[in-house]
Formats: sequence, structure tokens, C-alpha cells
Amino acid sequence: MSQVLVIAQHDGEALSPATARAVSCAGKIGGDIHVAVFAKDAGNVAGEAAKLEGVNKVLTIEREENATPLAAFLAPQIAALAKDYSHVVMASTTFGKDILPRAAALAGKAMVTDVMEVIGEREFKRPIYAGNVIVTVTVPGEGTVFASARAASWIPAGTGGNASTETKSLDVALPTHTEFVKLEAEESERPDLQSAPRVVSGGRGVGSEENFKIIYSLADKLGAAVGASRAAVDAGYVPNDFQVGQTGKIIAPELYIAVGISGAIQHLTGIKDAGTIVAINKDPDAPIFEVADVGLVGDLFEILPELEAALAK
Ligand SMILES: Cc1cc2nc3c(=O)[nH]c(=O)nc-3n(C[C@H](O)[C@H](O)[C@H](O)COP(=O)(O)OP(=O)(O)OC[C@H]3O[C@@H](n4cnc5c(N)ncnc54)[C@H](O)[C@@H]3O)c2cc1C
Repeated sequence: MSQVLVIAQHDGEALSPATARAVSCAGKIGGDIHVAVFAKDAGNVAGEAAKLEGVNKVLTIEREENATPLAAFLAPQIAALAKDYSHVVMASTTFGKDILPRAAALAGKAMVTDVMEVIGEREFKRPIYAGNVIVTVTVPGEGTVFASARAASWIPAGTGGNASTETKSLDVALPTHTEFVKLEAEESERPDLQSAPRVVSGGRGVGSEENFKIIYSLADKLGAAVGASRAAVDAGYVPNDFQVGQTGKIIAPELYIAVGISGAIQHLTGIKDAGTIVAINKDPDAPIFEVADVGLVGDLFEILPELEAALAK
């Protein structure tokens, strides 16, 4: 029977919603599900993980070096813990992409990325070519399978669980070639782009960093996160952690509003699982309209103020 280890993503205080999605993926593999919380003080996070439905046990691995999620420190610990498991699963977020391949390499095992569907214990579906082709991959041989779960493909596990918690200590020597210096993060009151139910994104059509105010303003009215196309990021209108798409964030909001975005395939792959897509573009032939549920053809600088005025009523 499978024994699946899910690695919790958190900021030291709260569990990231991406972990609940990874637990759903683990549930499809079947068998026991354990969630590992690497932290300096795992208390709150472990409590939240224990409530996820389908989780049998939460393991807390507390040590000073686990205060910050450095791949150099977490990967050897995960590789050591993996020996007791048939599968190790993490959400395919920036955190998971940083850590899991490194842990798999240290364990000497193969890794499957962006799992969308579980066919069998060693057989999975995943996208290639920016989501245009879905392939079925089989992990050959025996031993632990390392798999990242494409977060947008999995509905988060519910919170009605009540798993037990176990403190685990791992006798793993950590490398000395890496140290945590500091974290520089954008402070934002807005929801997190990766997990927000509503997202307003701007593209090259917005024209400048200054003009992006119109996107922030609509997002704030809707309580939405702000995203962007790669062209908008490359032009310096917004920071690159706003980027949605193949080389940015893969998201699945209930509502996605694309403003001045043409709808290149590399952008669309990031919003494939969005609920309702609204596109605002002055070009009626823009490819974004082929995937949009609601299309507004016109100048964004006229449409957005009208939308805001309507929302204010
Ligand atoms: C390997 C690779 C990876 C990539 N990864 C990504 C990725 O992760 N994410 C991503 O987004 N792109 C990615 N790209 C780039 C992608 O191919 C496109 O170049 C990019 O998405 C275009 O961004 P855009 O739609 O903002 O710009 P454009 O294609 O220039 O479109 C701008 C749109 O704005 C409209 N517009 C202009 N003015 C107005 C106005 N006043 N009112 C209304 N509409 C207006 C125009 O009609 C046009 O449709 C990648 C490319 C490659 C090769």
C-alpha cells in the first residue's frame, strides 16, 4: 500500500493553501498520507495541517535551520525522510519547484512534475508544450516517487480532518555552503496571486507603470489580486512575481480579468483552469477572445472607468 509524504508549504505562521491541493493529489495516489512540517516552531502550521481531510499524521521536524525555507537545508532532510515513503508530493509552486527536484536528486530518484491526474501509483498525466499536449508518464523501476502537483488541477482538501501529530528528529548533517541572509519581499495588502479567487491582470496594452494604477484600482474594488503578462513584466510595468503563464504563475481563480492582453499561448497556459475569463481588448481578433467567457471590445482606458463606476453603484 502507498505511504505518501506531503511537504507542507508555510511561512512559519500559516499553512499555504497550496498544501491542501497537494494533499488532494496525494489522496488520489491512495494509502496513508503524512504531512511533514519543517519549521523552527511548527505549532500553528502543524495544527492547520492536521485539520486537512485525508491526512493521517502530521510530522513536525523542528530545528533552527528550518526557520527559513532554504532548499539547501530542506532537501537533504526530505531525502532522508523519503526512505520510509512510496511517494513524496509537493505543490508545484515556486517553493516546491525550488526544493523537490533537489530532494529527488539527493535521494537518487526520478521526479514527475506538474501532475494533473493520477492514473496509478506510478502513472500520471502532466502537461507539455505550454499545456497544448497532455502526456501520460510512467515512473520506471521501484522506490520512492517524487511528484509535484500542478496546484491549479487540484481542489484543496477540506478542513474537517483531525490527524495526530508526531515530533520527528532527523539525524541529517546540513551543508555549510549556504546561509540565510535576509528576505526582501513586496509588502502588499492584496490577496496572493497564486491562491486568490479573483485576479485582474494587465498586459502590454496598459502602456506603462503609471497606467497600471487603473489595474490596481479595479482589483481593489473587486478584492482581487493583480497579475500581468510577460510583456508587461519585461517592460517594467510591474515586478516579475506578477507574471501569469508558462514561465510565471499557473493560477485557477474563479474570475480572471485580462486587460490589454492579446492571449498568447504562453499566457493562456497559466489560466487554463480559471472559472470565468473576462477579456478587455481593443482588437476584436485578439486570441484572448477565443477563450474568454465575456469579451469587451474597446479601449481599456474607457472601459475600466465605466466598470468601476458600475461597481460603485
Ligand atoms: C518560452 C516563452 C515563455 C513565455 N512565458 C510567458 C508567460 O509566462 N506569460 C506571458 O504572459 N507570456 C509569456 N511569454 C510571452 C508571450 O508569447 C507573449 O509575448 C506575451 O504574453 C504578450 O503579452 P501581452 O499580451 O501583454 O502583449 P501583446 O501581445 O503585445 O498584446 C497587447 C494587447 O493589448 C491590446 N491593447 C493595446 N492597447 C489597448 C487599449 N488601449 N485597450 C485595450 N486593449 C489594448 C492589443 O490589442 C493587444 O492585443 C512567453 C514566451 C516564450 C517564448
